[in-house]
Amino acid sequence: MNGPGRRRCLDLIKPYEPGKPVEEVERELGLSGVLKLASNENPLGPSPAALQALKRDLERLHFYPDGNCYHLKRALSDKFGFAAEEMIIGNGTDELLSLLALAYINPGDEAVMVHPTFSEYSFALHLMGGVPRSVPLVGPDFSYDYAALAAAINERTRLVFICSPNNPTGTIIDGEQLERFITGLPSGILVVLDHAYIEYAGSEHPDGFDYIRQGRPLIVLRTFSKIYGLAGLRVGYGFAPAGVIADLNRVREPFNVNTPAQIAAAAALEDEEHLARSLELVEKGRRQLAERLQRLGLQVAPSGGNFVFVDAGVDSRQLFEVLLRRGVIVRSGDIFGFPTHIRVTCGTEEQNERFLTALQEVLR
Ligand code: PMP
Repeated sequence: MNGPGRRRCLDLIKPYEPGKPVEEVERELGLSGVLKLASNENPLGPSPAALQALKRDLERLHFYPDGNCYHLKRALSDKFGFAAEEMIIGNGTDELLSLLALAYINPGDEAVMVHPTFSEYSFALHLMGGVPRSVPLVGPDFSYDYAALAAAINERTRLVFICSPNNPTGTIIDGEQLERFITGLPSGILVVLDHAYIEYAGSEHPDGFDYIRQGRPLIVLRTFSKIYGLAGLRVGYGFAPAGVIADLNRVREPFNVNTPAQIAAAAALEDEEHLARSLELVEKGRRQLAERLQRLGLQVAPSGGNFVFVDAGVDSRQLFEVLLRRGVIVRSGDIFGFPTHIRVTCGTEEQNERFLTALQEVLR
């Protein structure tokens, strides 16, 4: 039975299909030792410093969390230089995307993004009766086409989502092209730079911080789910001019980030050793995966993230299923509209090897 007065936008929303959890696959297929390379998680696990901090503070769980995330904001301020008024912390970046739609999207408003990209942009828009306008990435490298993005903008456009490194392709943006694009935007549009994977993209990647310091309408979104290895705690953060943050705080629930999440995230920020090890592992893993996949004659898009997007040349859903039965979970490209691609997270060298061996056997 449908609920009373069910909103029409529900018809446009497909429930999110997450990467299959290891335990679920083991339970359903009677396997053990299943390897998950499907959700761009950190194979090194959480920062040890974060785990230590968590243990110390667990006895405070009867208190509500700090709704202002004071300590975490202090830690972010020390590291990135923004004031507390220029920051928002969310229950994952996912929540921040919904808050953006809650604050800025009226029914019929539009947002521009590339295709393929992270599905939660469309989800957030649909929730508020907004309309996604997608512009395809171009060529075998899945490059951004700024002219096409600009052409998709009209008087209903409120948000432009730029995901770099882009999920699922790994595409990274170029600083000068971004500058030209942003300078040419009409007023009344907020640019959302989704930098969930920026730590893997190298120091040359534009961070967008100068735009915020200049008070330009732009928000940078980052997360503790990827390089910091804290996906299970759900913490994302955003930097933007204070006026944007004030708007988002109006639609934010008071205790949106739980206490363990705040504590662990603050400790993880300072764990430079864990960050360096995680980055090194991904740089090696990307090379290993790309070289070996290319040797198999497959087309791999250049990636700045902790994953690769590869055209396997066969039905991706079937490939996903066969790999699953061999105990390796990847992401099938059909959910992104690419029915012969798979997205594979960089694991440890041995994990990557296990995936490559399974893939080779299956494709043979
Ligand atoms: N943005 C992108 C591009 C992502 O790939 C993800 C995670 N899949 C997110 C945001 C959401 O991250 P979080 O875990 O912080 O909600």
